Amino acid sequence: GLVVHYDVRGAGTVVRRRETVHAVDGVNFALGTHETLGLVGESGCGKSTTGRSVLLLERPTAGRIRFEGRDLATLGRRELAGLRRRMQIVFQDPIGSLNPRHTVGQLLREPLRVHHLVPKAQQRERVQELLALVGLPADAVSRFPHEFSGGQCQRIAIARALAVEPRFLVLDEPVSALDVSIQAQILQLLTDLQNRLGLAYLFIAHDLAVVGQMSDRVAVMYLGKIVEIADRDSLYARPHHPYTQALFSAVPVPDPTRRREPTRASVTGEVPSSLAPPPGCRFHTRCPLAQERCRVEEPLLESVGAGHEVACHFAEQAVRDHPVGVSRPS
Ligand code: SF4
Ligand code: MG
Repeated sequence: GLVVHYDVRGAGTVVRRRETVHAVDGVNFALGTHETLGLVGESGCGKSTTGRSVLLLERPTAGRIRFEGRDLATLGRRELAGLRRRMQIVFQDPIGSLNPRHTVGQLLREPLRVHHLVPKAQQRERVQELLALVGLPADAVSRFPHEFSGGQCQRIAIARALAVEPRFLVLDEPVSALDVSIQAQILQLLTDLQNRLGLAYLFIAHDLAVVGQMSDRVAVMYLGKIVEIADRDSLYARPHHPYTQALFSAVPVPDPTRRREPTRASVTGEVPSSLAPPPGCRFHTRCPLAQERCRVEEPLLESVGAGHEVACHFAEQAVRDHPVGVSRPS
């Protein structure tokens, strides 16, 4: 039931009114140990806000966040700090997320010191362990972030997140700022680390191809709500929601034997403002299947198969008319 609203000053009018941004509006999901949930959608749909709120980096307006069975809202400061340590985040901009005045050694030692995890005498060794874990050379320790490429900086950011031995990482577009060849290396590193350390990932991205490669399950967000959530294979084979289908029709399919003409134009029109989300189904202003009912009645997530839920009044019709899944045989 995660809700994140915040007030902003309206722009462009003489008298500036307070307006409310509906960034996240009732999002529910569970994430298992060693599992990756992909969170996908256009920019501004509330993916990052969801990720940050789960870690309490942004204050939820309403809703409950449980981690390892504990409701975070019920914990005292010390207990919360202990649990929060086990939940870390890696951001999109690897260079901007690292303090340029600190050496890599300082950057990696800081979380060790703050959390009193490793005695001072062993910190040097632990830093070397972390560098090896993310595939950086030992001499990186005395160098500064600007001496590294974007991909290497993302390795440093990952090492820093891992320094405190988390169980769960929010990965907020961790490869979106990188070249495609570097993206593949970082994704491989994240997969290896997950297998080695048994991590759970909330993997945020706007790119369905990347999300499909990384995720066990995928949730599609539109204007602050999850509109479809399913096992990766089920979602990619049979996307039910017209918005998910539109996202897929915009994905280039690299295998030519699987290439198919998009059965529907990729989603057109502007994303409505999250200051005033449309009534009924929030997607109705852009949906090619929209009917009168969609303008007045909000569709709720309903099961269309094992572990596959869709929020659309006409989901069955959508999947019948437009089987655009990318892994279905042509
Ligand atoms: Fe489109 Fe209506 Fe389904 Fe919303 S509920 S996605 S407007 S068909
Ligand atoms: Mg974002």
